[in-house]
Amino acid sequence: MKKMDRKRRNKEEITPISKTREWKLLYYEHGRTGLEENSHPTGLCRHCELRDICTLPKRRSGVWHCASYKALTRKKTNLYENVIKQLEKAEDIVHFDPDICKILAETMNELIVHFPVKMDGGKVKMLTGYRVQHNNALGPFKGGLRFHPLVDIDKIRALATLMTWKTAIANIPFGGAKGGLQIDPADYSVEELEKITRRFTFALGSNIGPEYDIPSPDVNTNPQIMAWILDTYMSTVTPNERNRCIHVVTGKPIESGGSQGRNKATGQGIVFLVEKWAKDQGFNLEGATYIVQGFGNVGSWAARLMKKNGSKLIAVEDVTGAILNKEGIDPDDLADYVKEHGGVLDYPKAQPIDHETFFGIKADIFIPAALENQITAETADLLNVKLVAEGANGPTDPEGDKVLQRKRIDVIPDILCNSGGVIVSYFEWLQNKRSEFWDLNEVDYKLHKMIVDAYERVCDTTKKFKVDWRTAAQIVAISRLEMVYKERGIFP
Ligand code: NAD
Repeated sequence: MKKMDRKRRNKEEITPISKTREWKLLYYEHGRTGLEENSHPTGLCRHCELRDICTLPKRRSGVWHCASYKALTRKKTNLYENVIKQLEKAEDIVHFDPDICKILAETMNELIVHFPVKMDGGKVKMLTGYRVQHNNALGPFKGGLRFHPLVDIDKIRALATLMTWKTAIANIPFGGAKGGLQIDPADYSVEELEKITRRFTFALGSNIGPEYDIPSPDVNTNPQIMAWILDTYMSTVTPNERNRCIHVVTGKPIESGGSQGRNKATGQGIVFLVEKWAKDQGFNLEGATYIVQGFGNVGSWAARLMKKNGSKLIAVEDVTGAILNKEGIDPDDLADYVKEHGGVLDYPKAQPIDHETFFGIKADIFIPAALENQITAETADLLNVKLVAEGANGPTDPEGDKVLQRKRIDVIPDILCNSGGVIVSYFEWLQNKRSEFWDLNEVDYKLHKMIVDAYERVCDTTKKFKVDWRTAAQIVAISRLEMVYKERGIFP
């Protein structure tokens, strides 16, 4: 289909949020905002979590983004506030040492870097990057790098804090960190992305390091980006140190020192835990149905690995739209389609559906694997599933969580459910340090053991304190950190 035809068709197909209200159009594109009065809404935004806020049409997919007056007045949920509320909830139940909770409620270091990059046309653009190091009591800071238009310091703070909880629950010797750039990679050529990544790495300098702070992939970053970071970092140290710093990033391509099984690790960890949940509940996964939000690294791998259990994928939503086929969607075939077309939009073996229909589909399992704050009071109310296995970080806001609890929907919380990625990152780091290469069976076996052990620790904690799984996971994390702080004391 020609680009213009597709744009026109999408514009006609999208449903206005309301026909009765007076609408204003807010253009929100990559930090630039502007208000145009008395315009009409164009539809639902599929570009980002600002679902109800209008942006210009997305260039590649031809999907239209919307604006509404309602969106301008609605209070956005702050992920960092949610993370701190969750910490306080656990603190109230277990009465952790308040001094230690005081430490854990703050991030240790926050770095904001501004750096120039020469674009393809020769013009220089200034970019802003973040790295937040939340805590390193258990080991070096560890956490992903995200390239996304909605990256800001608050979000990175929240995600860094979640990493500390995650590594503590998994019992691995890492702390928590996160970083990112406020860019949409779709706006840049491959050459520009390489230059941006290298300049960002150079700007971070010795604030990252193989024994200090180890980045990995997250939203819109991948093994190629990790390889550029590694190469840049190696180029800035002395020649005899170069081969001692290959573990400065994880999630690298295998040939550049990556681990077998790292690319699928987060999805694999989710599936191991869904299998464990099913076994404990006496639930048969053969023939069970599942829906997935986000079909990038985490979502597509989780979807593909679930297929092995004989479960049926019936709906998927990503940034380009949502699709449904009650007879089943082949996740491998869909992954090939997404690789070629950039998203699930117009996948020929399923029908397009809207955001609300996607959330209301009757299925057994929902795997959110896109962005944060997707399961709100409204969308949780629509959900008709038995289990939510949180692949994304922070996909459920506190109001959404209350609704899930009221509806007695089981939840495997993010800080447990998506820890497969950081567990195999730890394996990659170990292999690099020891100059070892583990085969896939060894990686999968060790991942299964570690993540199922973590699940059992959380399960025991739900029973001990009679709390929900999210609170129990938080308690496991704080308990471990509290023990370490108590043993070591506070310097000086
Ligand atoms: P990715 O960039 O590979 O994929 C992101 C997916 O989300 C894409 O399919 C995109 O289209 C979709 N998406 C983005 N905005 C959306 C929206 N508004 N509505 C619906 N879909 C939308 O990223 P990823 O690495 O798969 O990460 C996904 C989530 O998992 C993030 O929350 C990330 O922090 C978390 N996570 C990733 C890893 C990892 O190893 N990559 C590990 C742990 C947690």
